[in-house]
Formats: sequence, structure tokens, C-alpha cells
Amino acid sequence: MTAVQIQGLGKVYRGGTRALHSVDLQVSEGEIVAVVGESGCGKSTLLRVVAGLEDATEGAVALFEQTVTSPAGTVPTERRGVAMVFQDHALFPHLRVHANVAFGLRGLPRSQKQARVSEALGLVGLPGLGDRYIHELSGGQRQRVALARALAPTPRIVLLDEPLSSLDERLRSALRDDILRLLRARGTTALWVTHRAEDALTVADRSVVLESGLVVQVGAPEALYHRPVSRYVARMFGPVNAIPASIAPRLGVEGAPAADGAHLVRPEALVLHPDGLFGVIAARRYRGTGYMAEITLDSGDTVLVATASAPTVGTAVGVRCRSITSAS
Ligand code: ADP
Repeated sequence: MTAVQIQGLGKVYRGGTRALHSVDLQVSEGEIVAVVGESGCGKSTLLRVVAGLEDATEGAVALFEQTVTSPAGTVPTERRGVAMVFQDHALFPHLRVHANVAFGLRGLPRSQKQARVSEALGLVGLPGLGDRYIHELSGGQRQRVALARALAPTPRIVLLDEPLSSLDERLRSALRDDILRLLRARGTTALWVTHRAEDALTVADRSVVLESGLVVQVGAPEALYHRPVSRYVARMFGPVNAIPASIAPRLGVEGAPAADGAHLVRPEALVLHPDGLFGVIAARRYRGTGYMAEITLDSGDTVLVATASAPTVGTAVGVRCRSITSAS
């Protein structure tokens, strides 16, 4: 079943800023779709229109085949079966944890409410913390409370707007894995806004890339990483070389170039090899899993090459493609 159907969606804010241009997107039930793109490209606006927190200027949104936003009117947020998790938690600091989580369960009898709150806190790994005040919790715990509050009413669709960005690295990956596990276990459909390539590539079945309010590419992680349609899309998912057509054949780059004529080649697709195009190692960076060498080629172009062992700055090397490796 289609969980989210977005057709021709446009949004112009009062004051004239156009945040979305004719966005089309279809999300299946249980699918997790990352929404990526540079700051200001319309990611939050898209989520807010789907949630019913903003009206659309043009187009329509249907959730589980019920039209919720259209020129004919909008269904209020509380009747959409969606929950939102924000970057800044948006919790009530003066209330205890259980009151925060119970907020989404207004209307349920007290006994059921308590059971659902305990269940939700257990799910997010915070059992027994219901009596704490929000200010007594760490950042990671607060975000878990926000997640419990979103999930307690068992929404069919969860909209996550940079839920991990206020957390440090260790907490980020732990919470990311937990969110993913919960969404998958419940078969919940999710739209997940993130500016982090790693999150988009690991959490999402597909990603939608927005540029200045336009959808520029939608696809599975592998397709977006290896076959981006443009430099903009390629850069969203990690470092990439835009290799000019003038030197592509000498590096052994095959395949079609991107729209601007450059071949988009990931640093892992290039190798140091004596038969390659000559250059000098200008800089190197350690990446944990290996090194990134920055090489100034004889042609004057600079390329990034991923290497397993430490390259020595100042050495002359050859660079060529591993195999058929144009990312475009
Ligand atoms: P993102 O989430 O990708 O950073 P946003 O959806 O927040 O982007 O913003 C898209 C564009 O709409 C930006 O130009 C932003 O300045 C503008 N915008 C966002 N919210 C409002 C608002 N409430 N009023 C006017 N302009 C807004």
C-alpha cells in the first residue's frame, strides 16, 4: 500500500520565498526514506507540509490513500496518524518524563495511558525513568523521550527532522540503530531528514535529494552513491572527484559524464599505479579505515584517491581508475 503520495507539491511562504517546487514522491508502507540536501533546500518544509503543520501552495498529499492536503483543504495534524521527532526534542522541560510521553495519548483512559507510557519508555531503552524531570536527563536521554512520545500513540508514519544532530558521535550511532530497529519492528513508514551521508546511506531504503526545493534524484543508497545525476547529489553522499572530460580517458574513466560534462568518480574507484596519469601527493588525511590522498596531477587537476597504506606527501605517483568506474 502507498503510505505517502505527494503530487505536484509547491510551497511559497508569506514574504515570497519558494521552498518547494512541484515535488512528486511516493513512499510505500513500511519504507524508510531519507530526505537530504543542503541547508535551506526545503527538507523541513516538506516534512511540515506532510505533517499538516504548514499548508501547501500547490499540489496534494495523501496518506494511506486519504487526501490530507489539497487545494480543497487540509486535514488537521492530529487526525493524520503521523508523529514528528525534531532535532531539539521539543519536550516540556517543566513536566516529568511520563507526562511528556503521555502528551501524545490524550483521550486514552488513565490506566491504558500508563501502560502505553511504560511500554514506550521500555522500547526506547529508558524504563524506570518516568519520574525524572526533563532537565535531569542527558541529551541522548531527552531525544529518547522525544522518540517515546512520538511512538506511544503508534503512528503509521513517523517524520524525523534531524533527530540525531544534537548528539555526540557515540550516542548518534546507538540512537540511530535503535530508531531503525523500532521502525522496522513496527513496520512504520518514515521520512527521515538528515544532512549526514552516513545516516542516509545506512538507514534508508531510498533517499530523495532536494536542491532549491526541487527533487533532483530519488533512489536506493547504492544508486545514489555510485550513479549520482549531478555533482550536487554526489557530494551529499561523500567525497567525489569531478573529472574533466579532457583527462578522463587518460585516467581510464569509462561511462557517461554527468550533466555538466564532468565524470563523477569516487576516491575508492581510483588507485595509485605506475601506469596511470602522473601527479604528486599534495596532502593526505587519515580516515580510520585508510587514507585519503590529495594528488595534483600533471594536468593541473586535483584528485582524491583512497589508499590503504599511508602515502608520502611530495612523492610522484601514477593515478588511474580501478575498473569501469565513472560514478555517473
Ligand atoms: P531545510 O530544512 O532544507 O534547511 P527549510 O524547509 O527549512 O529548508 O527552508 C526552505 C526555504 O524556506 C529556505 O529558504 C527558508 O529560509 C525558507 N523558510 C523556511 N521556513 C520559513 C518560514 N516560516 N517563513 C518564511 N520562509 C521560510
